[in-house]
Amino acid sequence: MYGLGILKGLGVTIRHFFNSYIEDLRGAGAKLLGDETVFRRRQSLDSIGIFTVQYPDEKLAVPERFRFVPFLVTEDADHPERPGHDWCTSCGICAKVCPPQCIWIVRGEDPVTKRPIPEPEAFFIDIDICMNCGYCAEFCPFDAIKMDHNYELASYDRTGRHIYDLPKLRKPLSYWKTIAPTTAAEEAEARGGWDHPDVIKEKKKQADAAAKAAAAKPAPAPVAEVKTTAVAPGNVAAVSEKAADISAEQAATARAAETVAAQAEAVAPAVDEEAAKAERLRKREEALARKRAKDQGGG
Ligand code: SF4
Ligand code: SF4
Repeated sequence: MYGLGILKGLGVTIRHFFNSYIEDLRGAGAKLLGDETVFRRRQSLDSIGIFTVQYPDEKLAVPERFRFVPFLVTEDADHPERPGHDWCTSCGICAKVCPPQCIWIVRGEDPVTKRPIPEPEAFFIDIDICMNCGYCAEFCPFDAIKMDHNYELASYDRTGRHIYDLPKLRKPLSYWKTIAPTTAAEEAEARGGWDHPDVIKEKKKQADAAAKAAAAKPAPAPVAEVKTTAVAPGNVAAVSEKAADISAEQAATARAAETVAAQAEAVAPAVDEEAAKAERLRKREEALARKRAKDQGGG
């Protein structure tokens, strides 16, 4: 039938038209209360009808991976050790990799020694040239530069408002945690904590040094050491045999000692007899000598 396709098409349009009002009426209460989840639901695939946002009165939430011009991460104002401190070490990598070359960095220097220090003295990004590629954030080795979600940057003053300097670029770490909680948590896990990578490295170095110092201290004198030897179950018989051998050897040694003692006892009277015989001979010789002397004196 001619015109059936046209009627079908009009039917689809009319269905979407009425579905839009049904969805709007469903979310009207939440909208009035300022609940932004209503926009997320309208953006989802479950939503029906035509969906129009009354921008700028109504704004859609951007996804976590959304990226607009970069910002520089700083410590939170209530950080215990370095409140408000820049995470940027002014290494210059982001400026090198930026395809349209819209980043300028002036490295900080020590006011006394005039030596370079790892923090930026000045940092500029021309947001009209930035093409939101995210290379700077991708390549920064210190997680110090991140892509922002704020896209309302239009103004009539290009030179005064579109060259972002340090005060405009700085945002605390807590802000990054708010706009990209999943990515921030993944980065912290990869770094080994929520601190700046250099701070984490320094803390690890100190902990290692303390552990080394503790290990280098002289150990207390050991209490009497008892040497024990574990015997495998299969070797028990061998050990018992060895012990029996040792006992037999000891017994044989004891018997030999007894024999020697007995022999010594047997030899002892013979020795005594010899000594007595020698004594008798000596006395006899003395008596004969006295007799001879007497005979000579009497004659
Ligand atoms: S790469 Fe990171 S640390 Fe290096 S200058 Fe850029 S923002 Fe700073
Ligand atoms: S987002 Fe891309 S273009 Fe913009 S400053 Fe970073 S590297 Fe450059």
